Amino acid sequence: MVSLSLIILSAVYFSMALGNYHRLGLSPLETVIFTFLFVLLTLLVSSWILVLMSTHQKIRPNGLRLYSTWMLVNIYYYLAKWLGKLVMQKKKELQESFLNFNNEIVLSNYSGIHSNNILVLLPHCLQNSECKIRITNDIIDCAECGACDIAKVKGIMSKHNVRAAVATGGSLARKLIQDSRPDVIIAVACHRDLTDGVRDSWRFPVYAVLNERPNGPCFETRVSVSIIEFAIKKFA
Ligand code: SF4
Repeated sequence: MVSLSLIILSAVYFSMALGNYHRLGLSPLETVIFTFLFVLLTLLVSSWILVLMSTHQKIRPNGLRLYSTWMLVNIYYYLAKWLGKLVMQKKKELQESFLNFNNEIVLSNYSGIHSNNILVLLPHCLQNSECKIRITNDIIDCAECGACDIAKVKGIMSKHNVRAAVATGGSLARKLIQDSRPDVIIAVACHRDLTDGVRDSWRFPVYAVLNERPNGPCFETRVSVSIIEFAIKKFA
C-alpha cells in the first residue's frame, strides 16, 4: 500500500509538473513549489527504501533506525491508511499488515539481547474471569492452575528468565515500559491495542503477538505461547 501510494504521488507530481511546463513554462513561484515537492517526494521515496531495507538487515547507526521507525509510524502508516480507505481495505487487514511489517523490522534489528531485558506485556483479559488471584504488574502470583494461558506464559518466563507483566490499559502499559525501559518488548493484545501501542512506543522495539478471542473481545482471551517463545529465542 505504501509503495503504491508513493507511485501514485510520483505520477501525479510528474504529470502536473510536466503539464505546466509544456503549457506555459513555470513561473518563479511554481518553480519553487515544484522544487519543494520534488525534494519532499525524494525524501519520502528514499526513506521508504530505508524502511524496506530494515525488514531484512540491521540499520546503523541507531539514529537512522529511529528515524526510519518514526517515518513508518507517523508517515507511511497514514499513507497506507489513506490508500486503504480509497480501496475499501478492512481496518483489521491494515493493522495486521502493519504489525507483521513492524515485527519483521524488530526481528531483523534486535538480537543478542540479555533475556532479563526482554519484557513480555500481557493484556488483563488473558486471565480467567473466575480466578481469585489478582494478577497485576507481575505474573509471579499466578498459581499455575492452568485455567488460562497466564500459567503457560509464567512457565516460559521462568524457563528463559524474562520478565512478564500484565497491563490493564494503554496508560499502564506505557508506564511499565517507561519504568523498566526494556531492550525489547513482546506485547500481546488485540489488533487495535497493538497498533496503538506499537505507534505510541515507537522509540522501543515492540514485537506484536495478536491474541485469540474465542469468547469475544476483551474476555478470557488466549495466546499462542509458542509464538512468544519463538520471539524470545530470536531476541535472546
Ligand atoms: S492460570 Fe494463573 S491466572 Fe490463570 S486462572 Fe489459574 S491461577 Fe489464575
